[in-house]
Amino acid sequence: MAWVVEVDADKCTGDEECVNACPAQVLELVDGKAEPVNQDECLGCETCVEVCPEGAITVSED
Ligand code: SF4
Repeated sequence: MAWVVEVDADKCTGDEECVNACPAQVLELVDGKAEPVNQDECLGCETCVEVCPEGAITVSED
């Protein structure tokens, strides 16, 4: 089972809430936007979804 993390770049403000909250270092800031650069490590915990004030992140099962 794999998790797919998607960031809506139009909503992302680059506040790094998800980058700092993710326990698996899945997300990094790239050119001012959060990107799931380490998606294989995702635990599916949805912490990033909960902390994002913009509702920019979705996590789903592959
Ligand atoms: S679901 Fe959890 S492990 Fe996956 S990117 Fe979000 S915070 Fe990180």
